[in-house]
Amino acid sequence: MTPIYDISLPISASLVLWPQDPPVQMTYCSHLDRGDDATVSQLSLSAHTGTHIDAPLHYVQGGPGADEIALDVLVGPALVVHTPQADALSAKVLESLEIPPGAERLLFRTRNSELWARGEHAFDESYVALTEESAHWLVARGIRLVGVDYLSVAPFPDQGPVHRILLGGGTIPVEGLDLSGVPPGWYLLVCLPLKIVAGDGAPARAILIDLHQT
Ligand SMILES: [Zn+2]
Repeated sequence: MTPIYDISLPISASLVLWPQDPPVQMTYCSHLDRGDDATVSQLSLSAHTGTHIDAPLHYVQGGPGADEIALDVLVGPALVVHTPQADALSAKVLESLEIPPGAERLLFRTRNSELWARGEHAFDESYVALTEESAHWLVARGIRLVGVDYLSVAPFPDQGPVHRILLGGGTIPVEGLDLSGVPPGWYLLVCLPLKIVAGDGAPARAILIDLHQT
């Protein structure tokens, strides 16, 4: 059987949220428990809840929305790299990883993933993120997708610079990945965000398929 890693966070009321984001709410329009014919819920959540992509128009005026991101960015070979000691994904750290020139999708497993593994429910401001310099490095290397294992690619609290560099430079961020169970190496990434027209972001189900084990 092909090993498949589910690297998506479960969406529920107990999911860690970005500060000031609205809570995840599920209210029932009808419910079998109430004698209704079917159970139907209404969801209320930020477009940046849990595992999600950022669309260029999140930070770039007039940029493409979540519905316009090419599927061949979101699906394809991805390299998972481990940086358990790093406090920041600086350009120096990225340089030290000796990422092969052909890599187009990079997912960084940092100490952040241990927060998911431990089931932490509080937002942690000291999460590991990219820097402006490393965002430039990724764009210059032609990286089309960058995945991080906390809720933002940018360090807390200043979100603008790193996002503008990536989204303006053609690199799509996938945020909120749980890579805690994933060994380093190459996988087939399948990341399918909801097709939200003009969406600034969209929750996604993301999986890694280990093609070497088949
Ligand atoms: Zn986001």
